[in-house]
Amino acid sequence: MESLLIWGCALLLGAGLFVPYFLRFRAARRQDAARHDETEALGMNRPVGQYPLIDANACIGCGSCIAACPEGDVLGIVGGKAVITNGARCIGHGRCAEACPVGALKVGLGDITTRDDIPVLSPELETNRPGIFVAGELGGFALVSNAVDQGRRAMEAIAARGPFPAGGSRWDAIVVGAGPGGLSAALTARKLGLRCLVLDQQAPGGTILQYPRRKLVLVQPVEIPLFGMLNQKEYSKEELLGIWLRLHAEHDLKIHTDERLLNVTGTPGDLVVHTTAGEHRARHVVLALGRRGTPRKLGVPGEDAAKVAYRLIDATLYKGSRVLVVGGGDSAVEAAVAMASQRDIEVTLSYRKPRLLRIKKRNADKIDALIASGAVRFAGDTQLTAIQPDTISLATPTGPAILPNDFVFIFAGGDPPFPLLREIGVAFGGDQADIHQIVAL
Ligand SMILES: Cc1cc2nc3c(=O)[nH]c(=O)nc-3n(C[C@H](O)[C@H](O)[C@H](O)COP(=O)(O)OP(=O)(O)OC[C@H]3O[C@@H](n4cnc5c(N)ncnc54)[C@H](O)[C@@H]3O)c2cc1C
Repeated sequence: MESLLIWGCALLLGAGLFVPYFLRFRAARRQDAARHDETEALGMNRPVGQYPLIDANACIGCGSCIAACPEGDVLGIVGGKAVITNGARCIGHGRCAEACPVGALKVGLGDITTRDDIPVLSPELETNRPGIFVAGELGGFALVSNAVDQGRRAMEAIAARGPFPAGGSRWDAIVVGAGPGGLSAALTARKLGLRCLVLDQQAPGGTILQYPRRKLVLVQPVEIPLFGMLNQKEYSKEELLGIWLRLHAEHDLKIHTDERLLNVTGTPGDLVVHTTAGEHRARHVVLALGRRGTPRKLGVPGEDAAKVAYRLIDATLYKGSRVLVVGGGDSAVEAAVAMASQRDIEVTLSYRKPRLLRIKKRNADKIDALIASGAVRFAGDTQLTAIQPDTISLATPTGPAILPNDFVFIFAGGDPPFPLLREIGVAFGGDQADIHQIVAL
């Protein structure tokens, strides 16, 4: 009898511990499956650049990859195996691969023969056009550390082809794009004694310049040429930009701002770089254009007004205003969150779909809380149709609406740089059935 009681208690205790765990586990797996179906139906599970490549035969479904991902619901478990639930959220930290106990997962570009947004590169990061290199996110891999690393590698590969004769009007290298990739390439050129010109359609800083003020950037350890290691885990946007601008000034980098690349013609060793300001000649070109391209306009009446912007730098400047943010991605949500976190800014977020899906989990948590508290008015399933001096017009499922408005921020993505690369003659993965050379990570 006594042992029966002991066994009974032990069973009850075991069940008390196990059953809640089992129910939570089952609910999480159901959520993963539903999320997977939803994002698949919306085309959201497709990768933007790199993404987790899962070997389903090796995967044991332990979920370590899910727990390790800093971006939230990129991965889930469906049918006992890891699957991509939201590939668009992957920005390539690679923590999932590190966490997998059986090596069933790595982060990469997959079969690039199926991708017409991934340029074909040699292990030295050279394109099919001799002398034209690609560095940074344009090649498919996001992250500041990848861009810095690839900018350095591309320029080292160029330097290894020297020495180049001094003098003349030809640059040893022209770098297009002054983001982390391009600046790293330019610093490497300075370090190795190459004559290098950098061109950018905006000011130096690249995508970092577009981040909201004081945004925290997660950085993997990487060595910046002529600076040393970036080894804090997090930097503010301002800290990172400060480092770049200091290096630009200290090493007297030659940077032309507000100059947009239009084409690269010429022959190997004598390339002609066509820009909005004219032509330059160079032995080599490094394209570090990122993947965001030029901000996309909506083409609505009134869009050229001074109150319309395509990025938010300082939310505090809009105190006392009524602001419309248009878009459903991380940039739109981060801008809406930054402004709604200020007292005295009335924020409406207009998105053409009924729900926000393309965003990181931590952004989703913040915006959900602000919507719930009424600090952000979410106008899902709406489209901006016109911008007037003191109002904006929205098309909503229940008919047109006019809202009082002082400023409009449009985050509709960018016109990608891929057509420009095609014009230059750069080949993409999807162009060729038989690719022997792919980028080496
Ligand atoms: C909201 C957001 C958050 C992010 N958070 C992180 C993070 O926490 N940690 C992290 O490591 N990464 C993060 N990233 C990714 C990171 O910012 C990018 O991977 C990195 O900036 C890529 O650097 P890049 O030099 O390749 O390109 P970019 O930084 O995009 O720079 C490209 C440059 O090329 C210029 N350019 C483009 N086309 C032309 C043209 N035709 N002519 C002339 N110039 C041109 C652009 O003006 C730009 O200055 C984030 C990105 C975003 C959007």
